[in-house]
Amino acid sequence: MASALTEKLSRLVKELRGQARITESNVQDMLREVRMALLEADVALPVVRDFIARVKDKALGQEVVGSLTPGQALVGIIHRELAATMGAGVADLNLAVQPPAVILMAGLQGAGKTTTTAKLAKWLIERRKKKVLTVSTDVYRPAAIEQLKTVTRQAGAEWFASTPQQSPLDIARAALDHARRHYFDVLLVDTAGRLAIDEAMMREIQALHAELKPAETLFVVDAMQGQDAVNTARAFKEALPLTGIVLTKLDGDSRGGAALSVRAITGAPIKFAGVSEKIDGLELFDAERHAGRVLG
Ligand code: GDP
Repeated sequence: MASALTEKLSRLVKELRGQARITESNVQDMLREVRMALLEADVALPVVRDFIARVKDKALGQEVVGSLTPGQALVGIIHRELAATMGAGVADLNLAVQPPAVILMAGLQGAGKTTTTAKLAKWLIERRKKKVLTVSTDVYRPAAIEQLKTVTRQAGAEWFASTPQQSPLDIARAALDHARRHYFDVLLVDTAGRLAIDEAMMREIQALHAELKPAETLFVVDAMQGQDAVNTARAFKEALPLTGIVLTKLDGDSRGGAALSVRAITGAPIKFAGVSEKIDGLELFDAERHAGRVLG
């Protein structure tokens, strides 16, 4: 991941590893630099504060000062705390419900919702051997409905037709009914997005949530968005009980901060990472591995 955060932290990590002696005062200096790097990478301030406090707490304990390789020990702590901030282990999807399990996709326009819906369909078919149906409730953009049709076909899943003349709720009901009658395991519901948060959009997706009672409500967010990603995440978290986050465009030249912030701000686990524009460019998010990448 070619991010500013990675470059800064790799440089710091290199410096740290070479430190023969770590004292309380140079731990403070180093943490000041880590703090700067995180802020410059658009990690939200409360998240940075909390992170630094946790690292400092551990670093000033026996673990670092007094260890044979104090630089290494401090890097180890930073790595562990980065991973802990982004999640613990790999958070899988919850599909243990009476089928069809509904997955509601939420997020702003351009975040990668439609692409991710198709990627997830393919992932569910190939990795979980599921029978998958997709549907779009984006009645405002006929092109979005067509786009879902195209990418669903690429994914090898089935697509449920909808038209701009229907209401989103009617589409949702019809798709769920179809999924039940034809024994689909999973129904993926791609919803309308806007360029910015608006109340009508939030009310609409809340109504869809109430109707569909999804097993998963995934918030799709563009990792390149930095601080904006945090604000959007907060707004969606307030409107919907999010069960997971999909961080898209992690392959891009993002500043790397979004991954750290969105989890801490929403409390929802990052479940998937979008790593390319292609239909197979979706991975289960691995916080441990991502922390390693961020540290370079
Ligand atoms: P939506 O408006 O939220 O449905 O967004 P789209 O699914 O139409 O995606 C917007 C753009 O982002 C498209 O050009 C996608 O190809 C691109 N995109 C989505 N996910 C990824 C990703 O993980 N990596 C990259 N590089 N591009 C992505």
